[in-house]
Amino acid sequence: MRKKTALITGSAGQDGSYLSELLLKKNYRVIAGDRRSSRNDNWRHNYLKIDKKIIYEDFDLSDIDSIFRLFQKYKFDEVYNLAAQSFVKTSFTTPLSTSNVTGLGTLRILEMIRCFSPKSKFYQASSSEMFGKTKNNSQNESTNFNPRSPYAISKVFSHYITKNYRESYGIYACSGILFNHESPIRGEEFVTRKITKQLSEIKVGKRKILELGNIHAKRDWGYAKDYVEAMWLMLQQKKADDYVIATNKTFSIKYFLNECCKLLKIKIKWTGKGIKEKAIDINTRKTIIKINSKYFRPAEVGYLKGNYKKANKSLKWKPKTNLKRLIKIMIEEDYKRISGHSL
Ligand code: NDP
Ligand code: GDP
Repeated sequence: MRKKTALITGSAGQDGSYLSELLLKKNYRVIAGDRRSSRNDNWRHNYLKIDKKIIYEDFDLSDIDSIFRLFQKYKFDEVYNLAAQSFVKTSFTTPLSTSNVTGLGTLRILEMIRCFSPKSKFYQASSSEMFGKTKNNSQNESTNFNPRSPYAISKVFSHYITKNYRESYGIYACSGILFNHESPIRGEEFVTRKITKQLSEIKVGKRKILELGNIHAKRDWGYAKDYVEAMWLMLQQKKADDYVIATNKTFSIKYFLNECCKLLKIKIKWTGKGIKEKAIDINTRKTIIKINSKYFRPAEVGYLKGNYKKANKSLKWKPKTNLKRLIKIMIEEDYKRISGHSL
């Protein structure tokens, strides 16, 4: 059978790495569209032992020429647009470049498909952040968007332009509205990985304190490895459509912290309220978790909970990993990285 060729933009990121691994297992030729970086160590691909199997191409979502060259060189069966300035907090300090990459970058790829490769199937990495300040108890494909950051607004643009190219030009273009998904290769700036890494450092005496922002925000957290399967499934259907991918459960950051401490056998006691809220290590009587307002956002998304009913019905997809299991996977991996031995 002919080998399929897939372009993954942002393949060096968390999802790009797991998706590359999945497509390689399915015998795809994987073309990685990654931009040059001074920290170009490809650590996630090395970690998954897939770096030798991928074809790397210089690519930048803000640079139309680099995208054009890729479409001249290859005939893509599938294009997964995962590249983005993906950190909400940074989107407040770099709103223009975030909009250019996370918003307009999607349109650059869609234009390339429309003009030169109309048979390529397209996946857009939409986000639950698009729901923003939501009034609904849970969010599905028909819930209104109320985005609260330049990141989320850029994703809303990308979401609608993907739908528009599907409806206007008949391109097979899908958006996966993915709720937060994490793993041991999640970026260290995101709250889950920041917690699993820094608490592991505290456990082995390499750090004294973990500082966080709003620990009462709630998220619907899933495992990235489960979620990339949904991306692939979306491009294997008869008709292109948009799907929410989630776990249908929501937990606070404080809950996540408590579970991590339990696994690491750190006994904590919470005291104080608001900016003064902190956790004290019962054994050492030292404060190990505290709030720092520098991690607050100009506008916060306090609550997200997805509903993946449509994906379950049409794609036969459901999450395989619950939050407790995900936390265990992340803590065990970070603890091992830091201490050199298993928990
Ligand atoms: P990551 O931040 O780990 O990966 C994003 C990748 O995009 C990085 O490799 C980054 O490179 C690259 N990138 C950034 N700017 C450009 C550019 N101008 N040109 C080319 N590449 C660029 O994100 P995830 O893997 O977690 O997420 C994948 C996608 O899914 C993103 O679009 C994200 O917004 C979206 N998403 C993620 C969710 C999650 O919970 N993980 C939830 C919903 C949506 P560099 O490292 O150099 O910055
Ligand atoms: P997001 O949902 O894409 O913004 O993913 P994050 O992991 O960055 O943030 C999830 C939630 O955790 C948000 O509501 C943040 O305000 C909250 N949060 C609290 N403290 C921190 C922190 O120190 N870092 C990050 N990244 N988020 C924090």
